[in-house]
Amino acid sequence: AIQEVDKIWHNGKLVPWKEATTHVMTHALLYGTCAFEGIRAYKTDHKGTCIFRNKAHIDRLFYSAKVYYIDIPFTRQEILDAAAETVRANGLESAYIRINANLGYGEVGPYSLDCPTDVSIVAFPWGRYLGDEAMAKGIKVGVSSWRRSAPGTIPAGVKAAGNYLSSRLITIEAKKRGYTEGIGLAHDGTVSEGAGENLFVVRNGRIITPPFAASILGGITRDSVITLASKLGYEVVEQNLPREMLYAADEIFLTGTAAEVTKVASVDDHEVGDGHYPIADKIQKTFFGLFTGETEDEWGWLEPIEK
Ligand code: PMP
Repeated sequence: AIQEVDKIWHNGKLVPWKEATTHVMTHALLYGTCAFEGIRAYKTDHKGTCIFRNKAHIDRLFYSAKVYYIDIPFTRQEILDAAAETVRANGLESAYIRINANLGYGEVGPYSLDCPTDVSIVAFPWGRYLGDEAMAKGIKVGVSSWRRSAPGTIPAGVKAAGNYLSSRLITIEAKKRGYTEGIGLAHDGTVSEGAGENLFVVRNGRIITPPFAASILGGITRDSVITLASKLGYEVVEQNLPREMLYAADEIFLTGTAAEVTKVASVDDHEVGDGHYPIADKIQKTFFGLFTGETEDEWGWLEPIEK
C-alpha cells in the first residue's frame, strides 16, 4: 500500500493528499499519455536529505513529454524546485518522488493536441523495492515470454505510463512463476532489461550492458553505475547480449531508482556464476557510499534539500 503523506504538489500548489484527484475521462487514463519520473531522495550522513540526480530525471521527463506531444506548462527549474519543496513540505528524510505530467481532461481520442497537462509531484516513504534480503543475497529472475516493444513501435526509451503495460506483463508472469523479477528480451531475442531495471552482466572481468537499441529505458542509475564502474577501473561496454549469456555470466546485477543496485542469484533456475559477486558487491558498495560520503560525489549528483 502507498504510505500517504500530507501534501501533494498539484499544478503549482501544495494540496492535501486526498484532494489531488482527477476526472475519469482524463486523457492519461484513457490512453496512457502520462510522462513520468521516479526519483529517490536519500537521507545522507554528510549532506542531509538529498535528491539523487534530480536534474537528470527532470531532463528525461521533458524528453518523454516531448516525444508524446505533452506540453509541460512549467520550466525545468520550477519542476526541480517543486520536487524539493514536496519532500520538504512533508518533512520526509528520504522518499520516492513520483512526478506525473498527465494529459488531462478535455478531449477524447488519441489525437488530442489541446488537452491541458496536469502536473503532480508526490513524495512518500518507500523502502527497498525488492526487499532487504534481495539487496544482500540477490534475486531469482526469469526470462519472460513477453518481448519488449520493438524499435519503431512504442518507444522503449521513453518513460510514459502506457509503456508500462509491457512491464506489467513481464513482471506478473515472472512472479506467477516464482521469480522476483522478469527479464524482457528485445524484438530480436537479445537481452533487453528487467521490467523496471536495467541489466548488467559481468564476464571475465568485463562489465557488459545492452545498448539503447535493445529497447531499454536509458536508466539514470545505469548511467551512474557506468560512471562509477569506469571510475573504479572496470571496462564497461554497451553491447547486445544473447539470452544464453545470462547463463554464462560470472555475475549479473540490475539497476534502477527503485531497485538501486540488486544482484541476480539465478536466471531461469540456472545459478549465476559460482555465487560470488566481487564486482557487483564493489559497485553496490560504491553506489551506496554516495549517501554515506564514503564515495566522493564528483559529479554533483546529490542535490541537498534546504531545510
Ligand atoms: N527500465 C525500466 C523499464 C524502468 O522502469 C526503470 C525505472 N525507471 C529503469 C529501467 C531504470 O531507470 P532509472 O535508473 O532511471 O530508474
